[in-house]
Amino acid sequence: MRSLFALLLLTASATTTAADVLKVQHVSGPAYAVVGPTGGRTYDNYGLNANFGFVVTNDGVVLIDSGASDSGAQLIEQAVAGVTDKQITHVLNTGSQDHRWLGNGYFARKGARIIALQRTVATQKQFGTQHFQQLQPELKERVAGTKAYTAPEPVGSDATTLTVGGVELQLRWLGDAHFAGDAVVWLPQERVLYSGDLVYVDRLLGVLPWSDLVAWRDTFHAMEALAPLHIVPGHGSVCDLAKAQRQTGDYLDWLAREVSAAADNWEPIDEVVDRLTDAPAFRDLANFAELHRGNVNRSYVQFENRR
Ligand SMILES: [Zn+2]
Repeated sequence: MRSLFALLLLTASATTTAADVLKVQHVSGPAYAVVGPTGGRTYDNYGLNANFGFVVTNDGVVLIDSGASDSGAQLIEQAVAGVTDKQITHVLNTGSQDHRWLGNGYFARKGARIIALQRTVATQKQFGTQHFQQLQPELKERVAGTKAYTAPEPVGSDATTLTVGGVELQLRWLGDAHFAGDAVVWLPQERVLYSGDLVYVDRLLGVLPWSDLVAWRDTFHAMEALAPLHIVPGHGSVCDLAKAQRQTGDYLDWLAREVSAAADNWEPIDEVVDRLTDAPAFRDLANFAELHRGNVNRSYVQFENRR
């Protein structure tokens, strides 16, 4: 059975190359982005509907986030190999959604050190099984071999600095965002931010039942203080701070303002969702039709629970 899966995996990998799914983009200095599609998870995209990143140093490559499975990790590895023949020596995790970390095991087996904050690992452990169950029907044999592997020595504090080949990288928790324990990777020399799921551009973000809207909004504003020159967002194209503000920060502000006022007025939830069903400043973002009403609904429930 194992070898059958291995064979299927090989066959699948032979027909797909990294370039079919991922676009590699030079950001600044040693920093690169690996940009995945903005739609949903599919068999064809290996669940890599998100962005990743890597930093090339003289002593090896630091990868930011590892993909949703072993086979996805292999595609990310291939994307990196298109730029450098240096080894991936470190993998940093910015979050706990499937595409941020389920490929960790693949890189760990090749000798990479997996690094994450304790608060990120706690959420990874909380959601790992659920994420596998959601991926399995979509990715089928492409999840074969994948095991939930978390950083063996999670960082207990809210920030850690790693210097590899003279390049400084900071893994920092600025506050919760899409998931509790979401973190960012900050390159102070280049002022490049790998934001993970704190920032979505080109497509609308999703407030999930466990995304704390107010915390996410406050975390976004804390991030602004870094004044990044380049942001590799969790989803969408590489951008500047102004675009991130327009498409994530302003939306979080708008949701928090409009929905909290409605909840304070005890306006019934169905009426609020209908009244706020259009948000002209954001309606051109991809996935608006699918996600916006649900975002209003879940945000309302959060404000209601705070009453
Ligand atoms: Zn994501």
